[in-house]
Amino acid sequence: MLDILSLTLDELTEQIILIDELKYRAKQIFTWLHVKKISEFSEMTDIPKALIKKLNEKFILHSYKPTEIFQSFRDNTVKYLFMLSDGEYVETVVMRYKRGISVCVSTQVGCKMGCKFCASGIAGFIRNLSPGEIVAQIYAAERISAENAAGVVLMGIGEPLDNFDNTVRFLNVISDKAGRNMSLRHVSVSTCGIVPKIYSLAELKTGITLSISLHAATDIKRSKLMPVNDVYNISALIKACDEYLKLTGRRVSFEYSVIDGENNSREDADALIKLLKTKNCHVNLIPVNSIRETTFHSGKKSAEAFKLLLTKGGLNVTVRRTLGTDIDAACGQLRRTKKDTAKVK
Ligand code: SAH
Repeated sequence: MLDILSLTLDELTEQIILIDELKYRAKQIFTWLHVKKISEFSEMTDIPKALIKKLNEKFILHSYKPTEIFQSFRDNTVKYLFMLSDGEYVETVVMRYKRGISVCVSTQVGCKMGCKFCASGIAGFIRNLSPGEIVAQIYAAERISAENAAGVVLMGIGEPLDNFDNTVRFLNVISDKAGRNMSLRHVSVSTCGIVPKIYSLAELKTGITLSISLHAATDIKRSKLMPVNDVYNISALIKACDEYLKLTGRRVSFEYSVIDGENNSREDADALIKLLKTKNCHVNLIPVNSIRETTFHSGKKSAEAFKLLLTKGGLNVTVRRTLGTDIDAACGQLRRTKKDTAKVK
């Protein structure tokens, strides 16, 4: 079965011709899928029954309804747990900002990267998501919210650049002018720093915002938190970011989870200032979300204090709102809880 939401209009048109249908049908179907966001082919009222039958035989249409919904009491963040067609789960988070909703999607089931503060990879890696499975998370969130997302961030479970081809295909589908027509300027891709893929992404000049999960400014500290740093160290990563800015003209954003006693001392601030002060970039501080397996903790006060040190050193810094900490909004925590509960049953 072909995953229909993974196809651009051109690709769908090829498939429609292969099943002996007229080309204009592809455009009609594409609009139903990406503008009206149907859940089943049978909802397409101007498509003949015989064609709907053919579509059902040839294609799978991913359409998610939440298995569980977690609404934060502290803010407007909502987290959805969606079951995929093979019974695996992913998490999708909807955050409400003044300019509209932003949808945070997962790109893999599990993760191989093993960052010490992150829940996504603790139970290992299961599989990549297809482009359509990423698109379907956005459409499910948009259907529930009854509005189109103003922004999309690839910051849920998984490492998008470890699922590079599907991530790029996803960007092509979501920005297809005949369909959802999302401006890629409103899409952020977050990576732990898979350097060769940063160069590949830069060459594509997609217009997305690149976010780098930095979390430490020296190799010794970063390798302790993020094993990927043993393969691609900070200097290789920063060089790739410089090239990204040069090729795309897009300012890179650095994510830094503030962890008390680990990466928020004055020395840490000085090292970060030294690393980034000549760069055209932005630093986003996030108080670390505690997960069960670690003693890592932090709070808004630590993040604000660290921000002050960095701002004094001339960096451009914001503290991210700690959206939905009461609903385990940090990546992967919910899927794990669900798996544990399922095991107990
Ligand atoms: N793999 C990608 C995207 C997923 S993680 C990446 O590494 O960027 C999205 C962001 O949340 C990353 O910056 C990640 O480092 C951060 N993150 C993960 N777990 C966290 C936690 N417990 N507290 C705070 N930030 C966390």
